[in-house]
Amino acid sequence: MKRIGLDVGGHTITAGVVDFSRSPAKLLRSETVAAPSPRMAEPLVEAAAALVMRFAESGEECFAGMGLPGFVAKDRKTVARLTNYENCDGLALGDAVERRLAERGIRAKAAIENDANCAALGEGMAGEAVGMEDYVVLTLGTGVGAGIVSGGRLVRGAHGMAAECGHMALCGAELTGCGCGGAGHLEEAASADWLERRAKGAGLPADFKSLWQMRAAPEAEAIISPALEALARGIASITVTLDPEAVILSGGMSRADGLAEELAARAQKYLPEPFRPYFTLKTSSLSGEAAVIGAASLFRESL
Ligand SMILES: [Zn+2]
Repeated sequence: MKRIGLDVGGHTITAGVVDFSRSPAKLLRSETVAAPSPRMAEPLVEAAAALVMRFAESGEECFAGMGLPGFVAKDRKTVARLTNYENCDGLALGDAVERRLAERGIRAKAAIENDANCAALGEGMAGEAVGMEDYVVLTLGTGVGAGIVSGGRLVRGAHGMAAECGHMALCGAELTGCGCGGAGHLEEAASADWLERRAKGAGLPADFKSLWQMRAAPEAEAIISPALEALARGIASITVTLDPEAVILSGGMSRADGLAEELAARAQKYLPEPFRPYFTLKTSSLSGEAAVIGAASLFRESL
């Protein structure tokens, strides 16, 4: 059975075929397309099915695992909330994609999972967390997400929504714009989307890469520094809660030159002294591949 993983982002969707007969697992080929426009349920179903069809042949049986930027219900078929997509609450996305593919002659089994959880699974199989049993992947991009592996198992929680660290209330209640409906959340303080909105409002380049490159300028520093402090508090809070072997940064923002070193330095002051010798902050070397590999690996839990 061909195993296909999809990483659904706010701006792009990447899909690929993963070979799990190798160790570490290997992404054989992949393709990235723009996220559907508008970012709504029906275009999402169509985009996901169309991408699977690029890799699956007619009559072939395949597995399609999808990593989604938001909250996934415990049944791993139903979307609870996608903060960057409209009208997806309660959508049985896995079933909808299976049906769409069946109409086109592809026998597929589909499963969904939070994208950061997929990134955590992928890092464990092919990335920075190979051999680790306790680690956290923090995804920094359109939103802020996390995936926790504790004692060798992905932590899902009582309702399937564990590790939503982007929605930790680390900031004041004056932040009210998070797409989840809660206030004071790390995602609103520090995601690329929010930083770019603030940059645009200040007349600066509205892309994180440019903003990061000009961070020595006071007007850019005034936007970036509070975000780094919020992230550092988040990383320290995750560390004292879980005592991981490593926190691994993933996602587009994580590749900014010097970001991990800057966050590690800022996080140290928030950590209790006994944690400091063990504190390890790494940057993923898989680029965007971890979530695709992790999504494709969901077949193991869907058999
Ligand atoms: Zn939130």
